[in-house]
Amino acid sequence: MNKIVNNYREIIRQIEFYKNKFSKTSKEVNLIAVSKNFPKQDIQILIDEGHTIFGENKVQEATSKWPQLKLNSREIKLHLLGPLQTNKIKPALKIFDVIETLDREKLAKKIKKYFDAEKETSKHKFFVQVNIGNEDQKSGVEVNYTKEFVKWCINDLNLNVNGLMCIPPIYGKAEVYFKELKRLCNDSNLEHASMGMTGDYGEAIRCGATFVRIGTGIFGGRD
Ligand SMILES: *Cc1c(COP(=O)(O)O)cnc(C)c1O
Repeated sequence: MNKIVNNYREIIRQIEFYKNKFSKTSKEVNLIAVSKNFPKQDIQILIDEGHTIFGENKVQEATSKWPQLKLNSREIKLHLLGPLQTNKIKPALKIFDVIETLDREKLAKKIKKYFDAEKETSKHKFFVQVNIGNEDQKSGVEVNYTKEFVKWCINDLNLNVNGLMCIPPIYGKAEVYFKELKRLCNDSNLEHASMGMTGDYGEAIRCGATFVRIGTGIFGGRD
């Protein structure tokens, strides 16, 4: 069997295992197959397996890979997982269905402006990225500002925010940060918590993740 298919099925099994094991906190767990740095052929293998949720980090890479892949499979939902520069809002919203990196006021305002100008009723969903470890070098809104920011995006800008996303600090226990993100979700009444990658998705599911983002575990190592 193809290695990607093999990995994928194993991850699906693992997710089911964790979901049942931690059924108190995890009701719904969706898998985002993170296909950054991998070519269309590899992605198509998963689409043929029936997988529909994918993640990419860069607008430009997604724009070169996904229009064709999406053409044949209308069920696909593509998540943006990397930082969004304001000058790439238009191409980003054209190819992505969910923007997981809504992380600052300026970006939110410009997205709102774009929707107003297009006069389209947007089907996009947004997750606010939280700088869960309050690290200097990381993007994301501050933990203490999250509730206010979410409220502003929903009420004042009319953006369809229904989740939070985080990348915990490399050092330290991820669990502490996952629990914190879940608490923030509950605090703002948000349905989705996007947390957990190849190395720690079991932990994330235990803490109540509704989306886990897995690249290496499915596609293999990246250069
Ligand atoms: C690359 C990436 C992932 C996937 O990481 P793996 O360790 O390869 O599973 C998840 N989330 C974000 C934001 C990423 O950039």
